[in-house]
Amino acid sequence: MIPIARPLIGDEEEAAVLAALYSDRLVQGARVRELEERFAAFCGTREAVAVSSGTTALMTAVAVHGLGPGDEVITTPFTFAASANAVLFTGARPVFVDVRSDDFNIDPSLIEAKITPATRAILPVHLYGQPCDMEAITSIARKHSLFVVEDAAQAHGASVDGKMAGSFGTGCFSFYATKNMTTGEGGMITTDDPATAKKARRFRSHGESSRYVSESLGYNFRMTEILAAIGLPQLRMLPERNEQRRANAAYLTEHLHGVITPKEMPGRHHVYHQYTVRVPSPDGTSTARDALAAKLTEAGIQTKVFYPVPVYRQPLYLDLGYRDCLPVAERLSREVLSLPVHPALSPDDLKTIAGAVNEAMEQRGAS
Ligand SMILES: *Cc1c(COP(=O)(O)O)cnc(C)c1O
Repeated sequence: MIPIARPLIGDEEEAAVLAALYSDRLVQGARVRELEERFAAFCGTREAVAVSSGTTALMTAVAVHGLGPGDEVITTPFTFAASANAVLFTGARPVFVDVRSDDFNIDPSLIEAKITPATRAILPVHLYGQPCDMEAITSIARKHSLFVVEDAAQAHGASVDGKMAGSFGTGCFSFYATKNMTTGEGGMITTDDPATAKKARRFRSHGESSRYVSESLGYNFRMTEILAAIGLPQLRMLPERNEQRRANAAYLTEHLHGVITPKEMPGRHHVYHQYTVRVPSPDGTSTARDALAAKLTEAGIQTKVFYPVPVYRQPLYLDLGYRDCLPVAERLSREVLSLPVHPALSPDDLKTIAGAVNEAMEQRGAS
């Protein structure tokens, strides 16, 4: 089976973990600080604050911007539920705006119609590793005095005109096992604002300004030294691995027929956390996509649908009274299929994937 994702862990991570394990400080010590400094430098931000996951990065980011009951946050429904759930945890309300079918990201031209006096922030998600149209989004945010919290959980190293994802607003990254770099579980918040960084550092550790002095409410969202030890070599190898993802994606885009391949938007550096094709069915259902997925499984190729249900149709959101039906998100949820693109693929794997997709689509065209 060619897997859809494979963590790349080697000797360097192994040695670093053992050194961290036998060090005197197991949590939030020198390795965590080094990872923060290196990650901030990588993103071109003044600060980076390490936390326990991408989810807790998002929860911290929305909390330190003071969001709460009565506030609204504009975001995309075509994402992992964590993006909007972080908003719910503060008591604020996610407001969903439809996405574009070319980059799968929130459609900036639809944002202003959803802004109300209660709107406090925009939370764009750089889906599959392609950054959003951040020039449009940040200009709307400036005009309406809104915070921008970027869900960059899939976009380590992505950029817009050379400016890194996570550096446009408050950036939230995940180091989950399958992300472009991993610590197993882990996350990072990036910001240029020292006050936001200071609040995030307190929030991740019970609001403490110093040990046992709780200034404000917080959680335990700390990162361990063992995880930071894995993150350091992972971060060093990230640019090279992103390039391998891009090369794999370029091969697939050149060789696939009969499916709609992902589009790289001008000026935007895509890091292909996922390589996601669209397979429209004539009747608007997911039949053609599902048939391709079944054929690829038979051929020993794992695929996944990210995401089969827009967030507002999750049972949680239906219970909260959400009744949105945004046409592009609905359609994409029935058309998208992610194929393996990770850097551990061999040239033979890529050939196998392209051959199997083309064969399945030709059979379908002929039938
Ligand atoms: C992975 C992911 C998250 C959550 O990150 P975790 O580290 O798993 O908590 C949030 N948003 C998106 C878009 C993700 O892909």
